[in-house]
Amino acid sequence: MTENPKITASKVPEIGKSQFELLEKLCNATAVSGDEHEVRQIVLEEVKPVADEVEVDALGNVLATRFGHGENRVRVMLAAHMDEIGFMIVKKHDDNLFQFERIGGIDERQLPGKAVLVGREHLSGVIGAKPIHMTTPDERKKKIAVDSLRIDMGPEIGDKVKPGDRATFATRFKVVGPSIRAKALDDRLGVAMLIELLKHAPGNIDLLAAFTVQEEVGLRGARVAAYRFNPDMAIAVDSTPAYDLPHWDDEDQNVQYNTRLDEGPAIYVMDRATIADRRLVTLLTDSAQEEDIPFQFRQPGGGGTDAGVIHKTRAGIPSISVSVPSRYAHTAIGLARIDDWANTLRLLHAALIRVTPDLLAGERRG
Ligand SMILES: [Zn+2]
Repeated sequence: MTENPKITASKVPEIGKSQFELLEKLCNATAVSGDEHEVRQIVLEEVKPVADEVEVDALGNVLATRFGHGENRVRVMLAAHMDEIGFMIVKKHDDNLFQFERIGGIDERQLPGKAVLVGREHLSGVIGAKPIHMTTPDERKKKIAVDSLRIDMGPEIGDKVKPGDRATFATRFKVVGPSIRAKALDDRLGVAMLIELLKHAPGNIDLLAAFTVQEEVGLRGARVAAYRFNPDMAIAVDSTPAYDLPHWDDEDQNVQYNTRLDEGPAIYVMDRATIADRRLVTLLTDSAQEEDIPFQFRQPGGGGTDAGVIHKTRAGIPSISVSVPSRYAHTAIGLARIDDWANTLRLLHAALIRVTPDLLAGERRG
């Protein structure tokens, strides 16, 4: 327990068996943008017993509020997106071969030969690839256009698959030593953390948790969620790529990394969509230092989070993002460290208990 008298007592959330089980359930669920039903059901089940108000809005965001107690409570919005990248079936061809489009940013070179799950029934399919025996040397140098690929479902599915159905990579959640490997760690890690923070909400603030839809296709759910909540400040909680592998070229240093595994939560100062509010950068870094939580600054560059639209909502909302770094984002399998997840959760809690009305009334130093 900290000695700062302003800090409201609230139990620090920890990662244990039930948190792993929840993250596993969330990662194995499918929720490609615009069809977040499965993750939404899990979220609702978890938040209904602890939240004071729960609403599902017209786009499918889950908006859960837990009120604090006492005077002058700051309204703090936390956002984590429920959706994941994936595919949409667009056309049926003979032999149950299906044409598809990508939903969200996926490198088409990642697709041939991958197992996928299609529709709400998780029907098993595979993205076909021409065997190497049949390809010419010239073909092997080129990437294969998505419109020439098909999801092969086989005869057993009958006509269960229709245009509009979503598909995801079939990767299953697994803990391997200090690491978690799964699809959709972006952003089921964030969803899992928001659920924990609602369960351990400190009393000094009103906690407004937005489990958003359609982040991967343009931050669409967060825009309406922020409008509805009309918060005083916001934190987007996400997972960001760790490009931290050693270099195998003749360069002696990887200068492109934006975060590294094992170095703790990634605090954003700027990304392509948002410049973080300086007061919130200070809140997070001070909280980390006071609680001895490791952290890193996410290096500016590509990508963005729900904060990209939240900060521009209504008359402007001071915003920042915090992410768990994970390798191989937007591919069939991501890899993150349990410690980075645990430390991100600790940091968010440490920051929330330090939020006071003075934080935002103070001089803007940004
Ligand atoms: Zn994300």
